[in-house]
Amino acid sequence: MSLRNEQSAPQHASFAHPAAPVVVLAGGVGGARLATALQATLPPGALTVIVNTGDDFEHWGLTVCPDLDTVLYNLADLHNPATGWGRRDDSFATLESIGAIGGEEWFRVGDRDLATHLRRSEWLRQSITLTEISDRLRRSLGVPSHLLPMCDEPVRTLVHTDEGDLPFQHYFVRRRCEPIVFDLSYVGAADAQVSQAVRHALHSAALIVFGPSNPYLSIDPILAIPQMRRLLAEARAPIVAVSPIVGGRALKGPAAKMMREMGQMPSPLTVVDHYGDLLDGFVLDQEDEVLAPAVGMPTLVTNTIMSTPGVGESLGRSLLAFGLGLGASKRGARSLLQPAASNPKPTPAPAHPAQGAQPAKPDTKPLL
Ligand code: GDP
Ligand code: CA
Repeated sequence: MSLRNEQSAPQHASFAHPAAPVVVLAGGVGGARLATALQATLPPGALTVIVNTGDDFEHWGLTVCPDLDTVLYNLADLHNPATGWGRRDDSFATLESIGAIGGEEWFRVGDRDLATHLRRSEWLRQSITLTEISDRLRRSLGVPSHLLPMCDEPVRTLVHTDEGDLPFQHYFVRRRCEPIVFDLSYVGAADAQVSQAVRHALHSAALIVFGPSNPYLSIDPILAIPQMRRLLAEARAPIVAVSPIVGGRALKGPAAKMMREMGQMPSPLTVVDHYGDLLDGFVLDQEDEVLAPAVGMPTLVTNTIMSTPGVGESLGRSLLAFGLGLGASKRGARSLLQPAASNPKPTPAPAHPAQGAQPAKPDTKPLL
């Protein structure tokens, strides 16, 4: 397979996809699991994770970035698989002591986790960018992959519910996702900019993956940054999304509940429609194999439930083979498209009926 970016690849690549730069767009748990699986498969430095910061908020006078931390702790193998947030083997003496003197206890912060929030907030007060801070943190913890916030400016997800407008953490943690969601806004996104680091990662990628993250809470804030959709549409790399919905339900969190509340079917096909023209390929869980013919673009059907040991690694490998395999046909299609940004929805292609990747064929790619 010939890859576009071989010349910019690290020299130590021994993997079958030699150092192809891969970018994952991620929220917390689902995106972090996929990123960890890809990190285990790719050569060091080949993976970049662009992370949602719409969940960020101010707490105890500190800036907390929950999705960046979930991805960081997963990539560093310091995460707590039981909770999906925080660090393994943490203690909560600070939380208890703060509660004892009347402080807020509804958002749980472990003592080791607190160190990250203290350090990040200290650096932010020194006007160091979140991009630079995230890089310092991941290097300190020995993470070989690049970790990028979606932007450096503060963006805050606001959830419009039957209980009024709730800041994201109040909806998610304090109210346990119980309110009915009507709509969302990403406050500050319109004034944010795509950083040089994000622009470079998207431009030089051989494959871009939308992780199996909540489309509304984790991926949409990233897509709300001006220019982001255009950069994705113009990227040379194929874009593949992994479904966060399996068998009509979310494996974690409110994605399926929110779909119902916003008048959508909780289905992988809702995810396909939601991302629309941005996608060149889709990954369906094997439980949803029957839906493959309706996806309307090249589709990989496989086990995507990464809490089962070994599944992440095998998903990572088949996703790379599938996604990178779409590259040649995308290049061919793009060379016929003027301008490159006008990437229409692919014409329906018959999906592979069994587990495994449907080979990408030039005639399945959009030409008009
Ligand atoms: P959050 O910030 O922690 O809510 O994380 P994300 O938005 O990244 O992840 C939440 C989504 O990940 C939910 O919709 C889950 O269904 C999905 N998810 C979590 N683990 C897995 C997994 O192992 N496989 C798949 N396919 N989806 C997953
Ligand atoms: Ca999140």
